[in-house]
Order: sequence, then structure tokens, then C-alpha cells
Amino acid sequence: MGNRREEHYRRLQMVLKWMLAVNLILVGIVVMLGVRTAVLSREVKQLAEQLETVAPDFGGGTDGESDGLSGIETDEPDESDEGSASKADQSTESTTAEDLEVNATEEESDEEQMTEEPTAEVPATEASVTEPPNEVGLRNYIVCLDAGHGGPGGKGATSPLDGRIESHDTLKLTLAVQRALESYSDITVVMTRTEDVEVDNGVRAQIANDANADLFVSFHRNSNTSGDKGGVEGWIHSSNPSDSRAAGELILAAMEKVGVTYNYGVKSGTWDEPDVNYKIIRLAEMPAVLLEVGYLNYARDNELYDQNYEAYGRATAEAIYTWLKDWVVR
Ligand SMILES: [Zn+2]
Repeated sequence: MGNRREEHYRRLQMVLKWMLAVNLILVGIVVMLGVRTAVLSREVKQLAEQLETVAPDFGGGTDGESDGLSGIETDEPDESDEGSASKADQSTESTTAEDLEVNATEEESDEEQMTEEPTAEVPATEASVTEPPNEVGLRNYIVCLDAGHGGPGGKGATSPLDGRIESHDTLKLTLAVQRALESYSDITVVMTRTEDVEVDNGVRAQIANDANADLFVSFHRNSNTSGDKGGVEGWIHSSNPSDSRAAGELILAAMEKVGVTYNYGVKSGTWDEPDVNYKIIRLAEMPAVLLEVGYLNYARDNELYDQNYEAYGRATAEAIYTWLKDWVVR
């Protein structure tokens, strides 16, 4: 029994020793780990400090590069001078590389701007920055309206039917066209006359030229010796310019929709001499059309004229606006 007990104690001691040893080892491991983490954290701190001390150099370097490349970036130096020292400290630990990439892309875009700007048209870039495109890129259309004849010495034709005077009729219609055209916010209307006054045909053309008009439209009324026909027609330059022709055809078609006895269409030159031009058409330096709106000595045309001159005016304005959008670059 005694041996057994001794042996039992020995075994117990052995077990206890082992347990102690294991404990010690475990404690040792824990201590080691603790020390290591402490050391590691110290190293991390040191590294962080090193990075902090190095960081301003990085920041300065990149700023310098971007400044050198961009040149026009006046904002960047201000930022880095005033507040980016702390910014750089915060960011360099984890995002230095990212920042560099960002800077690189920024530099690329700066370079693109640099290379694009000299080739781009200066007015366009300046304008697009400061003002909305509608007010800059798109100037108003300019239309010159001419009421044919006028004044005591310029009555034009007189009707044998009712004594009506061409210059009075043309002013009525032209003022109606003016009213309708001025309802378009992007059209400027220039009139050669708004009252019963005499204006030289050369002066009328000069008014249109001085205004730099996009279109010149002269309104007249027709007459003949027989008085057996009615209808509307237009006259353009003998060289038959397609823009003037288009304007005349659009206006005549619009009047036809309102109601005319006949549409004779657009012709070039003059009635008896195709190579000779009406003076205002010859002198006008823009697309120009002279309209004969019905015959003074044809009763039905006078009826239609008196009924419809306001409607003719609106239809003419619509046609002119259509023409301006089709033919004028602004
Ligand atoms: Zn006339």
C-alpha cells in the first residue's frame, strides 16, 4: 500500500508539474504574443510617423508635377498652401497611391483641356461659360418689310373699279405682316415705311442692307389693261436664286391657303424683260422677293384683299418664319 501511495503521490506531482509546465508555457506564449503585438504596434506607430514625415514631400511632389503640367490650374496651389498639409497627413497612410491616380487623371484631363482650348473657337467657349446658348448662339432673325410706293407722288396703280390706291393697300397688308411677325420673339422686323410717305426704291433697299436683313419682302398690288384676270405672283432676281424663290413660293402658298383667285407662282426678272430686275430686288444684298397680291382692277381680288389682309399677314408671317428656319444659319 505504501508504495502504491508513494507512486500515487509521484504521479500526482508529475501531473501537477506537467500542468504547471503547461501553464508556464501558455503564460509564456501569452506574454510573447503580448510583447509581439506591443512591438508590432510600436513598429506600426513608427512607420506611421515615418510616413507622416515623408508625406509632405509626396504631396508637394505631386502638386508640383500637376502645376508644371497644368499651368492653368490656379486653384490647386492655393489649396495646398492653405489647408492641404493636414489633408495630406490624413490621406497618405492609406490612399497615397489612389491620390496619385486621381491626380494623374486630373492631370490628364487638364492636359486635354490644354490641348483642346487653343483649337476651340474662342467666342464659343467664352460664350458657353457665361451665358445660356439661346441668348448667345442664336441671334434674332431680321426681316425687312417694304410697303410698295407711298406718299402723294407715289400712289402706284389706281383702281378703275373703286378708285383704290395701290400704296394704301400695300401699307395695310405690310402693317398686318409686321404685327404678325413681331409676335415671334426671335424675329426683328425692319420697315421701309409705316406711314403714307414717299421713299425712294434705292433707299428702301439700303434700309434692308443697313439692317443686315435675312430676307427682304416688298408688297405690291397688280394691275393690267384688260381687267379680266386675278391672282397673286412673286418676282425674284433674274439669276433665279433658290433662297429667294423658296421664300416667294412659301408665302404665295400660304396666301393661297387663306384664299386667292389664282397663284401664278414665282418668276425671275420682270414681265417683259427676264434679264432686267426691279430696282429694289437688284439692290437688295439678301434673298428678296416682290409680291403682287391680287389685281387692283379685278373685283374679286379686291374683295378677297379687304376680307383677308389680316389673315394674309398672319399666313405670310408663318411662311417667313418657316423660311427663316430653313434657310438662315444664325
Ligand atoms: Zn407696285
